Amino acid sequence: MDTQYNPTNIFAKILRGELPCIKVYEDDDTIAFMDIMPQADGHTLVVPKEAAVNLFDLSEQGAQAAIVATQRVARAVRAAFAPDGISIGQFNGAAAGQTVPHVHFHIVPRYADSALRGHAREMQDPEQLKGHAQRIIAALREQGA
Ligand code: 5GP
Repeated sequence: MDTQYNPTNIFAKILRGELPCIKVYEDDDTIAFMDIMPQADGHTLVVPKEAAVNLFDLSEQGAQAAIVATQRVARAVRAAFAPDGISIGQFNGAAAGQTVPHVHFHIVPRYADSALRGHAREMQDPEQLKGHAQRIIAALREQGA
């Protein structure tokens, strides 16, 4: 499993502000934004700011901050989309499905009657993503986050 951090990866560029994202949340240690190829409406990514390829490279402080932020954002996704369930996912290594080599957590709303779309397959209309982000931001505000 590759643990050599490459600072040219796409999330590193987003973290440095070199590429845009549709952001819903930020604190000292993490940022959360909409996945541009969501597996379900509301699919959000929580990205630690620390330069770590995967969970194993993340400091304990970074891991703590990431799970707290993930819980906070997932609560807002739940409030905004009222899904039947929510999957929280985190992939380590290409063999496990990791496509971006900067550690991150997926928050994916799930519905009993609909299957997930493919992983990192199809871009969603940015205007739709912005609308979803607004709902999550409003829910975060509601919960005082
Ligand atoms: P992984 O496969 O590494 O667990 O997940 C990477 C995720 O990042 C995928 O779900 C993919 O759709 C998403 N993604 C890839 N490139 C970008 C991008 O440029 N911006 C955003 N917001 N998401 C991205």
